[in-house]
Amino acid sequence: MHKDIATPNRTKEILKKYGFSFKKSLGQNFLIDPNILRKITDAANLTQESGAIEIGPGIGALTEQLARACKKVVAFEIDQRLLPILNETLAPYSNVDIIHSDVLKANVKEIIHERMAGIEDIMVVANLPYYVTTPIIMKLLTDNLPIRGLVVMLQKEVADRMTARPGTKDYGSLSIAVQYYTDVEIVMNVPKTVFVPQPNVDSAVIRLTRRSTPRAVVKDESFFFQVTKASFAQRRKTIFNNLSSQLPSGKEKKEAILAALEQANIDPKRRGETLTIEEFARLSDQLYPYFQ
Ligand code: SAM
Repeated sequence: MHKDIATPNRTKEILKKYGFSFKKSLGQNFLIDPNILRKITDAANLTQESGAIEIGPGIGALTEQLARACKKVVAFEIDQRLLPILNETLAPYSNVDIIHSDVLKANVKEIIHERMAGIEDIMVVANLPYYVTTPIIMKLLTDNLPIRGLVVMLQKEVADRMTARPGTKDYGSLSIAVQYYTDVEIVMNVPKTVFVPQPNVDSAVIRLTRRSTPRAVVKDESFFFQVTKASFAQRRKTIFNNLSSQLPSGKEKKEAILAALEQANIDPKRRGETLTIEEFARLSDQLYPYFQ
């Protein structure tokens, strides 16, 4: 077995050899603790038959652990300067494909189809670039990919919002979007000291397990998400006031919103943060005919 890429000394050696300078704008905070990397990998419950998709391999610290734990790793890296480095650090692992691409622009479904043919169990595992955490997670959830779920490192504050329950200060449209598609749990909190350079924010690892069916059945998904966003536009306002000011104008809009709230059995004076996903689903289905 080779010495782990992630040990502080080996990381330092690699960065020095290539004269690599971190780009803050690309969220480059590399992990230098093999123990944390193994815990992240373990949380994905991979087998030798599984596949792993990584976003942002950096110099390959996590990629290496994944390559040892599963059959095939496909990793998307935006920064061209890392390609020659990865070529060297991951040379011992023949089961890794590096794709030079912005993951937000990539056709991930097609790439899975091409590079992971025959693999049934696929997980996304990543230490995400924090400047695009939410767009990446939402893209992977809404692209309808053949994945079991995601184990990702992200800002603790965003992890708290994604896992928040109704009635708490962190609960909002992001909690609903994520929990609509997945069962989500915090795996661990991670100290700043395991990164170079150290990020300004605290971090956490979460696991998102895709549900076989969404948590609620709705007539129109995009309208459901529009209603949830509108309901949290101003947190101190009632659901009625938020919907009245946020939904597109229409004939007798306020009357329509009041009627829909009543039909959905939701008190117009409640605040969005107290509604469960099921209640939002009921409400959006009642509102839907008025806003077509
Ligand atoms: N996996 C490595 C580790 O844990 O040490 C690096 C993680 S670092 C937080 C994030 C990585 O994502 C960087 O390598 C960065 O260049 C890459 N990255 C940033 N934006 C990206 C994007 N839109 N698509 C793909 N990779 C991206």
